[in-house]
Amino acid sequence: MGIIKAARLVHEFIRRNEDDKIEEVKRALDGVDVDIRTGAFVAVLGHNGSGKSTFAKHVNALLAPTEGALWVGEMDTRDEAHVWDIRKMAGMVFQNPDNQIIGNIVEEDVGFGPENLGVPTEEIWRRVDASLKAVGMTAYRLQSPNKLSGGQKQRVAIAGVMAMKPRCIILDEPTAMLDPNGRREVIKTVHELNRAEGITVLLITHYMEEAVDADRIIVMDDGRIVMDGEPREIFSRVKELKSHGLDVPQATELAYELREAGMPLPEGILSREELAQALAPLLGCR
Ligand code: ADP
Repeated sequence: MGIIKAARLVHEFIRRNEDDKIEEVKRALDGVDVDIRTGAFVAVLGHNGSGKSTFAKHVNALLAPTEGALWVGEMDTRDEAHVWDIRKMAGMVFQNPDNQIIGNIVEEDVGFGPENLGVPTEEIWRRVDASLKAVGMTAYRLQSPNKLSGGQKQRVAIAGVMAMKPRCIILDEPTAMLDPNGRREVIKTVHELNRAEGITVLLITHYMEEAVDADRIIVMDDGRIVMDGEPREIFSRVKELKSHGLDVPQATELAYELREAGMPLPEGILSREELAQALAPLLGCR
């Protein structure tokens, strides 16, 4: 069993009126089956309201299943005795870094998490050092987080999660509020953590380009997993992605349009470089 496993996971949000009568039931997850191996980098795509955040909250035991089950490191999220161990194992990074940063100084902020876990002081400093180094923010350790750019703040937030030594990190649209530079910084950092530390990554994103380098892409629609595969395979299925309200990376889109217009280009082109390479012989360039 992988580090995250869901079996027929269902989540219903129930709204009641003043008399406690059920007014509306929204099935946000509708029978999700998934098994994510330790060390994987998984991108979760889906249009607004498809159930991505609800799934992320289950992985962090912030929500309990209506039906079915979810295990994190073989711990069942239905068992309340496991809630804190699950949150230690699976750290969450949210969209807005301003809501996650509480310290007045970067190093203090990164130390909050382990301090709350009761980690001894010396070990806290070791973790703060290592986490800041891992996200490339050591030079800023004595600065006020207010002075940092959005991308730098988000990297500090990631360091704060890393300092709690999770085995898995779930990022719920961590780049939604960042400029293109900040987005690149954060995604690069997360890939490095995945590669160097073997942290399992679950990256929820709206940006197709951020999913290109994942090991695996899961596409959600209406509370279900509707596509699941490697990026090249998923991005070859352009029409199907579009039917789920998603775009494809720019280079993939252009290659798709050219192929539809009759150019013999291969499927699954993911980057400008790949597109240029595929086009060169067709255009008589070397
Ligand atoms: P995504 O992250 O893909 O945008 P969400 O998981 O946030 O999707 O939402 C899935 C569905 O559940 C949506 O229809 C949303 O409106 C609904 N939903 C999310 N949170 C709540 C809530 N707290 N109460 C009621 N409905 C909710």
